Amino acid sequence: MMMSPSDMWRKRMRERRERLDATRHWGGYRQAHYAKSTDTLVVVVEAVPANLDPGDHGETKWYTVCDDHNRLIGHSTLALARYHASAPEEWCEVCGGNEEPDEEAQ
Ligand SMILES: [Zn+2]
Repeated sequence: MMMSPSDMWRKRMRERRERLDATRHWGGYRQAHYAKSTDTLVVVVEAVPANLDPGDHGETKWYTVCDDHNRLIGHSTLALARYHASAPEEWCEVCGGNEEPDEEAQ
């Protein structure tokens, strides 16, 4: 049976919602949203519970992650991590148009 355009739209919206909801189970989860500028799923996590490198002196306490492209950037403060969450094109090379997506991210 063919799906109607509205069925497909609803399915897509449901999948977006499920992807977003799934991030709440990530280790160190703090917040997640689809960035307005890129429409990619961006997640803020705490470094240690997320099993990410906290830096030699534990200075990298937070990470901002572009889930669509498997790119991330570390920060010393939650405020910085949240700030970067609104503009992934500034630190995700794929969102910024400077790199091709990884094979496995497709
Ligand atoms: Zn990206």
